[in-house]
Amino acid sequence: MKMQDAFRKGGTLFTTLALAFTLTTALKAQDIQVQNLSSGTTLSYPVVLLTGEVSQSAINHPSLVTSEQMTWVERAKCDRQYSLRVTNLSSKLPSRTYQTTMFRGEFKALVELVPGANRLRFEAGNKTNEITLHYQRIASNLKVRLVYITDKTGNTRYDSQFEADPQDYSSRIDTAAKLMQTFLAERMYTLGYGRKTFGLELDPKGKVVVHTIRLPHTAAHLNRCNKNELWTLCNAAVQKQLGGKDYKNLVITAFSRYDTVNKRPLAHTALGGMSTGVISNLGMCSWPRHIGDVARAFSDTTPICEGKVYNDSSYRNTLWGLAATTIGAGIHELGHAFGLDHSSDPHCIMSRGFDAFHRAFMVDDAPSDRNWVTIHFSEAENVTIQSGAAHLLASNPWLKTQELSRYARRSGTALAW
Ligand SMILES: [Zn+2]
Repeated sequence: MKMQDAFRKGGTLFTTLALAFTLTTALKAQDIQVQNLSSGTTLSYPVVLLTGEVSQSAINHPSLVTSEQMTWVERAKCDRQYSLRVTNLSSKLPSRTYQTTMFRGEFKALVELVPGANRLRFEAGNKTNEITLHYQRIASNLKVRLVYITDKTGNTRYDSQFEADPQDYSSRIDTAAKLMQTFLAERMYTLGYGRKTFGLELDPKGKVVVHTIRLPHTAAHLNRCNKNELWTLCNAAVQKQLGGKDYKNLVITAFSRYDTVNKRPLAHTALGGMSTGVISNLGMCSWPRHIGDVARAFSDTTPICEGKVYNDSSYRNTLWGLAATTIGAGIHELGHAFGLDHSSDPHCIMSRGFDAFHRAFMVDDAPSDRNWVTIHFSEAENVTIQSGAAHLLASNPWLKTQELSRYARRSGTALAW
C-alpha cells in the first residue's frame, strides 16, 4: 500500500470514527430532550415550564409500553410508573426538585429559577441530561398585585379538611400566582406571540408579595352580601388602602366559608372586571405549597371531605380537581381584569376551560369521579386562550415579552418594554 493510500484509508477511518462518535453523542443527548426551550435562554419570569420527551429506551420498558395485548387500563397504570426528576442545581429553594410522571415518555416539568445561571439536571430511568437557563428579573411598573383580604378581625384561616393544615396562605398564593404567570407566558408562546406575560411583585427572596388587608366589616355582614357587593367592597378597599393605577389586582377573600349545615358557600364570589379580579379562599387547602409541589397537588386523588370543605371541583370530587378549578378561577377573573370577555371555546380559560388549568402543567388527568382511570389528553384538549383573546392580550400593556434578547442579556440593563 502506498503511503498516500494508507493516509487516505486512515482518514476515512478517522472520519467514520468521528461520525460514529457524533451520532452516539447525538443519540445520548436525545434520551431526554427538552423541546420548548434551548439551553442558554434568558427569561425574566421565575417559573419555567419545560416540555419534552424521554426516549423509550431510556425508560427501559419498551415491551410493556408498546404491547398490543395490554388493556388501556393496564397501560395507563404502567405509564404512570415512569417518573422524571428535574433538579435545579443552582437553587436552595424548597422547589429545587420537581418530580412528575410521564406519559409514554412525554413530560411537562416546572422549574423555579434563581437569578443568574440555573443548571438544570434531568433524570429519568438511568439517563440524565443537563441544560442551563438564565433568569434576570426586570423592573416593570405595570404589575399584577396579589391581595388576601380578611374581615375586620384579620382572621387569615382558610377552610381545610386536614387537622394539621399549616395555613400557609401566602406560600400557596405565591405558587398559584406564579403558575398563572407561567401559563400565560407559555400559552402566548405556543400561540405565536412569544413568551408574553404579566409581571408580579416579588420580595428579595423571590416570593410573591401578598398584601394582607382588612375590610371594616364583620363576617356576619359579609355573609349577607351578594357576589357583586363582595366584589365592590373588595375593589374599593384595595383602591383605598393600596392605591396605584399601575396594578391589576387578584384579590382572594379570606373570610369565605363553607356552611356544612346548610351545604352552601358563604361570602363566596368569583368576579372580575375593571382592574380587579376577586376569587375566594374556598379550595385553598388543595393548592400546592410551592412549585416543587405542583405535580403532587394536580394528581392528588384524595376525595374531597364535603363535611369540611366546599366541593368546587367540577364533579371530580378529588383534591386535584378542586385545585384545578379554584386556581383556574383566578386566571379567569384576572382575564376579565385584563379586559377579556367570555369565550365559546370549551378549552379557553375564559370559558369553563379553566377547570382544566392543571393540564397546562401535566400530561394526563389523574383519576376522579369523572374519569375512573388516568386519561391522556391531546394538545387540542389542553387549556388555552382563544385566538381573539390572545390577540387582545398581545397588545395589553400589562403583558411584556419575557424572553430576553441577546443584547439585553449582555448589557444586563433593566429594560422596559
Ligand atoms: Zn367570567
